[in-house]
Amino acid sequence: SLLNASGLGLVNLGGPVVSADPERRKPAELQALAVAAAADLEGAPAEEIAKWATDTFGERFCVTSSMADAVVAHLFSRVSPGVDVVFLDTGLHFPETLKVRDTVIRTMNVNVRSIRPRLTVGQQDGEYGPRLFARSPDECCFLRKVEPLERALAEYDSWATGLRRDESPTRANTPVVAFDAKKGKVKVNPIAAWTQDDVDAYISRWNVPVNELFKKGYGSIGCWPCTRRTKAGEDPRAGRWAMFEKTECGLHV
Ligand code: SF4
Repeated sequence: SLLNASGLGLVNLGGPVVSADPERRKPAELQALAVAAAADLEGAPAEEIAKWATDTFGERFCVTSSMADAVVAHLFSRVSPGVDVVFLDTGLHFPETLKVRDTVIRTMNVNVRSIRPRLTVGQQDGEYGPRLFARSPDECCFLRKVEPLERALAEYDSWATGLRRDESPTRANTPVVAFDAKKGKVKVNPIAAWTQDDVDAYISRWNVPVNELFKKGYGSIGCWPCTRRTKAGEDPRAGRWAMFEKTECGLHV
């Protein structure tokens, strides 16, 4: 199996997986693991992909969540209770998003880590001028999302996302496991192959917390200044940075 192929003596005690070898793996080793897993796990159930990730990376693994919904956090809470869930607390989230985060903290067996930017919104306004998001969203996303994620991921060799192929054309080729050469880490997308119907079925089966804004016409939810409602027939991500030629925040490039 892939677990044996990793040869790292991981010990499953029935709860969170403990790595007998806390040494950091080298990028070449991580890349080889990712390439093998991408082939082996394509078409596998999301739970199996999640289990491979937590068995393989142990404490050097985290889930990232935008708290639009808590599907991936929930999936990993079942497979690896106590797993770290990283949330980028930009300071510009809708209250509904923070409500999902707080519900996850209250109801799921995961360790939510809210990571903040180096500058508060007020400090950023002071240094870069107010409403940077309206003038240079790439710069704002770098300060409030990309840099904080890089800082958070420094502790991990691998992270999971909720990216799905059917979310937008830019995500159509998302692999279930990939090596991110820029970060030197393994990115795991256990629900890459899920459709919106699969997500809805999981939410209803497990009663997973979902952002209330979905019921109010939002197709995809990020920071409030850069998110608008979507119209019928629009791509779900059409409401993100709608004033700009921008569809991604830079976290997934
Ligand atoms: Fe800034 Fe908008 Fe990016 Fe949030 S989504 S970090 S407000 S540019």
